[in-house]
Amino acid sequence: MNHVLKTSIDNTPCLFNTITQDIHYLPSNLLDRAQSISKRLFGLNNCLQLEIIPTWKCNFRCPHCYVKDHLIPSGFEEKGININLVTKFISDFIDYNPRIKYIRVNLLGGESFLEPNKCTEIIIAIKKICLLNNIKAIFSSSTNLSFDLTKHHLEYIEQLDSILVSLDGLEQTNNNQRFSLSSENTNPFLKTLLNIKQCVELVSVTVQAVLSDKDYDNKQLIADYIYILSELDVAEDQIQIGCKVPVNRDFTNNQNIIKYFKNNKTLYPSPCCCFRYMCHLVIGPENNLYIDYHNIDETLVCSLEEYDFSNIEKQYKQSILERMDVLNDPGCSSCPVIGLCWGRCVTLKCFTNGKPSLFCNKEQLIETVNIMAKQGTLIEKVLSYQNLQKEIEYLKK
Ligand code: SF4
Ligand code: SF4
Repeated sequence: MNHVLKTSIDNTPCLFNTITQDIHYLPSNLLDRAQSISKRLFGLNNCLQLEIIPTWKCNFRCPHCYVKDHLIPSGFEEKGININLVTKFISDFIDYNPRIKYIRVNLLGGESFLEPNKCTEIIIAIKKICLLNNIKAIFSSSTNLSFDLTKHHLEYIEQLDSILVSLDGLEQTNNNQRFSLSSENTNPFLKTLLNIKQCVELVSVTVQAVLSDKDYDNKQLIADYIYILSELDVAEDQIQIGCKVPVNRDFTNNQNIIKYFKNNKTLYPSPCCCFRYMCHLVIGPENNLYIDYHNIDETLVCSLEEYDFSNIEKQYKQSILERMDVLNDPGCSSCPVIGLCWGRCVTLKCFTNGKPSLFCNKEQLIETVNIMAKQGTLIEKVLSYQNLQKEIEYLKK
């Protein structure tokens, strides 16, 4: 029984939007299916996404920060990212995977804008390699943008294609959870807002709010937030509003996360970026390579001073097999839409506690898939992955 594979989404050059027929095709034969899953999870792609952390310093201390245990005081000496090691690694990566056509680099931290000159240097160096190898490079930075903009910051911005600014709601909500370490920055909200105004003229700006459960339900607050940003010329589709995932893993007061998981009908044909085999890597200021920014400690792969790609491959594969909940949750093993869900974003992992099937709304997802299939917009029929567990065992060998 082979199943049909129809999609209205064209292949795009970017890994993150790419849906190929392959992705939806799973032959019923057990071995073939295992190989098909293997191909989907462990195939090389033509895009590399690098997250570069130039520093663990940050001018803020937000309670919900994912990397707060890594943040260091501003006067603290850190080893510091070695640009030569970074560029050597990228050159070696291109030799390893000559199909690479696109490199996306996101500079984040800590706060990368605390090291503007270094960031500018990193980008210029990577651009040179990409130019030599005929590779398209795209650069972005995630920032709180709550500091005095200097000419060094502007030079850094000039090298970027986009910035993602964190601004958690209106003045009170933002300032309640975005604490500045600087006594001079008495109103982080205002500082960020004024800088956004300056930056929209220079670069594509997306603004992201991470809201508490209560604020997420506050329609007036969200409307005012969008209005204020629109007044600053931030396009409406460049405003992202999400609810806070508690890092203390107490979800009793966080019904929106559960609602989000249950009601979200979005299909995820590609796994979360942290499970995109050899396509998504993180470089830290210690000159180490990691897989998952949200789980730096658990996903250290190697030092940039010494690596070999067969070992990176092995560790990456292992990391996916062990950390991807849908591969280990028996409730997902016979799910027909696993290949369009993959357990979604890794940040939800801490609340699903390794069992996404207990929180999802599989039926709704199946219905969505079926409607789209009938419309001819996505898949005509989605396969049942029965006996997936056996297939996983096969993959683990
Ligand atoms: S600004 Fe970002 S990196 Fe800094 S403390 Fe807040 S969440 Fe963490
Ligand atoms: S059971 Fe739920 S969480 Fe698991 S793969 Fe299916 S839709 Fe996703």
